[in-house]
Amino acid sequence: MTDDLQVTQEYIWIDGTKPVAQIRSKTKVTPYTPNGNNPAKWTFDGSSTNQATGRKSDLILNPVRQVADPFRGALSTLVLCEVLNEDGTPHESNTRAVLRAAMEKAAALEPWVGFEQEYVLYSRGNPMGWPQGSEPAPQGPYYCAVGGGLTAGRDIVESHLKACIDAGVQITGINAEVMLGQWEFQVGPVGRAGDPLLISDHLWLARWILNRIAEESGIRVSLDCKPVKGDWNGSGLHTNFSTAPMRDAVSPSPVAGMSAIKSAIERLAVVHNEHIAVYGHGLEDRLTGQHETCDINTFKWGIGDRTASIRIPLHVAEAGGGYLEDRRPGANGDPYKIAARLLETICV
Ligand code: ADP
Ligand code: MN
Ligand code: MN
Ligand code: MN
Repeated sequence: MTDDLQVTQEYIWIDGTKPVAQIRSKTKVTPYTPNGNNPAKWTFDGSSTNQATGRKSDLILNPVRQVADPFRGALSTLVLCEVLNEDGTPHESNTRAVLRAAMEKAAALEPWVGFEQEYVLYSRGNPMGWPQGSEPAPQGPYYCAVGGGLTAGRDIVESHLKACIDAGVQITGINAEVMLGQWEFQVGPVGRAGDPLLISDHLWLARWILNRIAEESGIRVSLDCKPVKGDWNGSGLHTNFSTAPMRDAVSPSPVAGMSAIKSAIERLAVVHNEHIAVYGHGLEDRLTGQHETCDINTFKWGIGDRTASIRIPLHVAEAGGGYLEDRRPGANGDPYKIAARLLETICV
């Protein structure tokens, strides 16, 4: 009876565009098989994605993660892929392979990550809600706001939240941000574990879903680190990180979790520049020491301190364990590179 049923698989991958990679995707229609529709390897034209030359253009899409397709409905899926060379080795643009290798060395400490993706919605070259050719009232009332004139683009934000939940992407929340037209969503461990590969994959899928929704109304999603110069917040990708010892808030004092968090911070302090180098493009415009950031050349940490490079959330300090927040990564950062670097520093 289901012989004629066909489903779609949307193959999604990260391209080789520099300095900031772009997400690409294409659709495969395939017969439905009741025993499971494991997506097969596929190929694409790498010469059109800054990943190959025209003479040797075929690259391989290797499916690594599959979620439900929230747009095309039941049985159709989104298929996140790694890009491989024709000999099956990871393509140089394949930063996920770097995170995979780091995870093999770090898995014993059960690391978790959670990302806070900030972004700005643009309509006709302007942040949404901004008057043409001028600026709105200064920032202050827009963060977590509700109401006309105080927020712009909520229909897109809500559709994105629903689509991520429908897909099975581990989204953990959304909020309006400090600049008008700026928003945030979080992907990470809440109730469920936060394996860095899974969460980083889900962040890329959530980015694809957001662009897919915004596209319907001609809206552009900007992950620029400092989209509007002047007295306006930039966009970050705060990265929350923990290991099993850091999450241990029950062992006796000196509190095990907090001392694991502090020794992680000591390790981070000596490789500040190595982290900055892989935390996003245009970071120097965002990490100025203003607007809830720490200056790019300074490393400092603090409890509940939003001017620090590393913040220990107040509730973590009070509980005696949990996680730390690395506030340095910029909105256009690659979660694979950021997570891999954190693993190298803290777990290896
Ligand atoms: P903020 O107060 O910085 O705005 P958010 O609530 O936006 O914080 O984001 C907190 C993030 O921390 C979420 O992505 C969540 O998944 C993540 N998180 C929570 N617990 C942990 C943990 N133990 N390890 C790593 N990340 C965590
Ligand atoms: Mn947040
Ligand atoms: Mn934020
Ligand atoms: Mn944060």
